Amino acid sequence: MRLMLLGPPGAGKGTQAVRLADAYRIPHISTGDIFRANVKNETPLGQEAKAYMDRGDLVPDDVVNRMVFDRLGEDDAAAGYLLDGYPRTVPQAEELHRFLEEQGEALDAVLRLDVPEEELVRRLAGREAEGSRSDDGVDVVRNRLRVYEEQTKPLEAFYDERGLLYSIDAVGAVEDITARALDVLASTGHPADAPTPGGHDA
Ligand code: AMP
Repeated sequence: MRLMLLGPPGAGKGTQAVRLADAYRIPHISTGDIFRANVKNETPLGQEAKAYMDRGDLVPDDVVNRMVFDRLGEDDAAAGYLLDGYPRTVPQAEELHRFLEEQGEALDAVLRLDVPEEELVRRLAGREAEGSRSDDGVDVVRNRLRVYEEQTKPLEAFYDERGLLYSIDAVGAVEDITARALDVLASTGHPADAPTPGGHDA
């Protein structure tokens, strides 16, 4: 299963990504997590990405693409993966498409998490109050939402045209949203391995 999650900041991609990756027994590849780890460890990649992240801007496409293609070349990604936060621009999606095509591969599905804007703003305000992320300040959040609208939303049409786009209502209890996602994905001909979302073998 080569799956990609699409949705604005605050849609709950990270939470669902962990659960879906677990259900499909595939690695969860979050470009945001990889960048944050690099910033924390003060690697050259982290130093390059930090200023963009702090503003809520996107890291340049060539930097992100290189990082992702390295990651996709690792052994655990051979049988599939869940992409969370990538691609984020049409040029990234085009490059990914080319990269996969060269290996006779393609994404199987793109799952969009639908959340009304008022709900997004409410969730992001809550996250800011928790102070859990350095890029959760009001202005930065506003910029991240704007960047999503301008640069990432066009991916919906990109993947819809390729017949890969599926959407679910992503408001409600975490488990219910996971169940909706698994239903939709099973209907694409890719049922998950694990019977219980988030469950583990005894
Ligand atoms: P996220 O946790 O996915 O919201 O990512 C946090 C930040 O990392 C973003 O605001 C960007 O600055 C950067 N980032 C993550 N993924 C990408 C991507 N695919 N393209 C460009 N920048 C990214």
